[in-house]
Amino acid sequence: MPYCPNCKYEYVEGTLNCPDCGEKLVESLPEETLLSEDDWQVVYTSSFDYEVEMLKDNLESAGIAANILSQRDSNFPAPGDLSIIKLLVKKEDVESAISFIEEFKKNLLSDNDEENNIE
Ligand SMILES: [Zn+2]
Repeated sequence: MPYCPNCKYEYVEGTLNCPDCGEKLVESLPEETLLSEDDWQVVYTSSFDYEVEMLKDNLESAGIAANILSQRDSNFPAPGDLSIIKLLVKKEDVESAISFIEEFKKNLLSDNDEENNIE
């Protein structure tokens, strides 16, 4: 199915240009730009942007595609939960992402705790 690379909409076979923006349609979008809830799963939430950004960078340098979703991008307000930022990875990467994050958090803790680790 052809997609518009700007609008991320899928159009019926045979459509050549996007009816909305006029962009030439492509056969498929790069996977990173397709954010469907069927394929992506939340593996981490935080109220600190920098923490989620840092994890995303680390995951990506480990070859795991990650996406950030913040409440600010969302259309539905969640009372009392306004500043939650979610980190999503593809379903097939969930397990490796979670163990990666565990490892990452351990490193964070041991950084703060370095003086206690001397044996
Ligand atoms: Zn378009």
